[in-house]
Amino acid sequence: MKDLNCRDVIEFLDDYVGGVQPATVRHEFDAHLAECPACVDYLTTYRETIRLCRASCREDLPPASAEVERRLIEAIVSARRRA
Ligand SMILES: [Zn+2]
Repeated sequence: MKDLNCRDVIEFLDDYVGGVQPATVRHEFDAHLAECPACVDYLTTYRETIRLCRASCREDLPPASAEVERRLIEAIVSARRRA
């Protein structure tokens, strides 16, 4: 896979974060991320979202977490718009 664009990165971000890609593909991701602050922002938001979701599951938050979910979605959407 050569010359990844932002769409490729976002589409396969889950694989990247999960570390299930072959090393060659991962290398292409790293090369793109080194030159694309928008995708780095997106990746940061994505990882933070996963972290917060896991934390909220552990803490057994009350239904008020719908507000948190809405803010996470907004953060993801705005990160995507910048990409
Ligand atoms: Zn990008």
